[in-house]
Amino acid sequence: MYFTDAHEELRQHIRRFLEKEVQPHLEEWEEKTFPDSIFERFGELGFLGLRYPPEYGGQGGDYFSAVVLSEELARVGSGGLGMAVAVQTEMATPPVFKFGTEEQKRRWLAPAIRGEQIASIAITEPDAGSDVAGITTVARRFGDEFIVNGRKTFITNGARCRWALVVTKGERERGHSGYNLLVIEKGTPGFEVSRTLQKLGMHSSDTAELVFEDCHVPAANLIGEEGEGFKQLMWELQGERMITASGAVAGANHVFEYTMEYARNRMAFGQPISNFQVIKHKLVDMGTKIASARAFVYETAKRWDEGEYPVREISQAKLLATQVACEVADDAIQILGGHGYMREFPVERAWRDARLARIGAGTDEIMKEIIAKSYGL
Ligand SMILES: Cc1cc2nc3c(=O)[nH]c(=O)nc-3n(C[C@H](O)[C@H](O)[C@H](O)COP(=O)(O)OP(=O)(O)OC[C@H]3O[C@@H](n4cnc5c(N)ncnc54)[C@H](O)[C@@H]3O)c2cc1C
Repeated sequence: MYFTDAHEELRQHIRRFLEKEVQPHLEEWEEKTFPDSIFERFGELGFLGLRYPPEYGGQGGDYFSAVVLSEELARVGSGGLGMAVAVQTEMATPPVFKFGTEEQKRRWLAPAIRGEQIASIAITEPDAGSDVAGITTVARRFGDEFIVNGRKTFITNGARCRWALVVTKGERERGHSGYNLLVIEKGTPGFEVSRTLQKLGMHSSDTAELVFEDCHVPAANLIGEEGEGFKQLMWELQGERMITASGAVAGANHVFEYTMEYARNRMAFGQPISNFQVIKHKLVDMGTKIASARAFVYETAKRWDEGEYPVREISQAKLLATQVACEVADDAIQILGGHGYMREFPVERAWRDARLARIGAGTDEIMKEIIAKSYGL
């Protein structure tokens, strides 16, 4: 219903590349994070611009091309790599494409599609995460430049990025107007990576804290109209949540298939553990939850692809899919028993990686607040 032959061809192409050039290095990358050069390789193969127009080096595909990439990345079982690529393709660059000028697209979007420039998006601050409007990074305008002061944290690709799309507040912000999205390039005096952060999962990606101190940013780096940043960010977050939901379902399915195979082969009391009704039923529950989450995610992705703005359903898809992914990973560990807890079995990493998706791109609680508001509650 959603995928054409071209999508399936793309899937095989991505899968072959990941099996050959990514899978063999994953264990090492979980220890040290992946090398920047992997972005160039993704770029060479066209995977960073699947749904961007050819004039910027993209492949001109639809949203389901991006879904295919997220599903295949989830299937290799390294959440950190999938997240880093999604930040590049589905979070940092979409606002440049949608709201940026032609010159800005040539300067930042096209090189990001080629994998020559790694991008990040910097919203969260030490004192403001869910409460985006509560950020305190200020960009004061003086003629043809902004002077930016503030601090961002938990920024994926933050250490390795060439530029960050930074959410800032104007001096005279009024309600939700007065926010600005600025592209701030590494090397701009006053922009530093103050530290990288250690975390529970997603080990192959880097997570950094960024500091801006009297950082002079040309007004030409303002994306879209001055003062419209909050609205632009709310649009960006819909895409971020949609792709998070898609990856979560695919990741859960990968864990489910692995676990089913394991249960068929693991013997206890003289028979495969999949013979025990309690294990069988747990597997059935896992598969059923995945199937229903997948159907809802695809239906919502189709609406997003067709230009609708279904905020309620995107929030529901993100909430449902990421909860299912965590439940499935947890059940998988239980079915594998002690093996599930060991690093050499993949479900341990899946359990750690999946947990982030209920926090990043808006927490479960924030999704429920948005959904409640959509019902008029
Ligand atoms: C590994 C990792 C990578 C990340 N990558 C990025 C990135 O690239 N760029 C970026 O900008 N951010 C990134 N984030 C940040 C992420 O988006 C935030 O952590 C998330 O939005 C939650 O914000 P917070 O951590 O400040 O939690 P808080 O906002 O402090 O929330 C704490 C708790 O309070 C609850 N809560 C808050 N408000 C409400 C409310 N109104 N009603 C009910 N409950 C509420 C929350 O749901 C949560 O349970 C990343 C985070 C992690 C862990």
